[in-house]
Amino acid sequence: SVVYLNGEYLRLGEARISVLDRGFIFGDGVYDVVPAYGRKPFRMGEHLARLQRSLKAIRIETGWSAGDWEDLVQGLLARSVLQDCTVYLHVTRGAAPREHSFPTQPVQPTIFGMVSSLSRPAAVNRERGLTAVSMDDERWLHCEIKSISLLGNVLAKQYATDAGADEVVQFRDGHLSEGSSCNLWVVKYGILRAPVRDRMILEGIRYAYLMELAAAAGIPFEARPISRLEVGQADELLLTSATREILPIIRLDGRPVGAGSPGPVYARLRADYDRAIAAL
Ligand code: PMP
Repeated sequence: SVVYLNGEYLRLGEARISVLDRGFIFGDGVYDVVPAYGRKPFRMGEHLARLQRSLKAIRIETGWSAGDWEDLVQGLLARSVLQDCTVYLHVTRGAAPREHSFPTQPVQPTIFGMVSSLSRPAAVNRERGLTAVSMDDERWLHCEIKSISLLGNVLAKQYATDAGADEVVQFRDGHLSEGSSCNLWVVKYGILRAPVRDRMILEGIRYAYLMELAAAAGIPFEARPISRLEVGQADELLLTSATREILPIIRLDGRPVGAGSPGPVYARLRADYDRAIAAL
């Protein structure tokens, strides 16, 4: 498949970076993932705005405008044979002698992009739901930055895998944060709730999007801290991400969530999400 690296479109096997790249050495970079259906990007503007925010947060200057990023996404999609896919965008501070502080000499950031195939969630996961295990959120305090330093997220996902579960439900100081690579939502008495968008979570592009869908469907929404007890007593527990869209979690730590099957708020939001993709 075709990738983009520092101004060139190449075959994946031809793309090379320096071992001194600060992404490789320090995890000093940020990324984003834009989903596309039938090669049409979904919520691209929002993803690219988030990438620009992440770059700004760690003070990497690419000189790229929103239009330049859009051209890259479209350039990758135009060269891809995949229909449903993700466009992965990755920027590091570039290659420089190994020194923690930013390079004093000007360095070109490394800009990389690739297209990967995207399988929409399997029927079994959509219709029966997922399982999850809870854990303490042990990551750092800048989860709003979409950092390529993903060790905490990797270890969290492996914790779920080792427990035979699909995902983790993380708590920071007794309050719900997010999954290993997804946002989490609870439903109680028909009200949809999510943690506040602060530094403890990555603001998923589906966060504002689900708020829109909920408003249009007449589902009340509230952002506020959500305790462990509230998660334990929720009628529904949902996750959202670019690749998993929206899915229900029906068992947490071996116990059923609500009725132990996907609920009505999920069903409504899922149907609306499907309709939006079909209308692209
Ligand atoms: N939180 C984390 C830690 C993630 O990695 C992701 C996936 N990007 C999300 C939330 C969900 O974000 P989005 O809806 O933009 O995929």
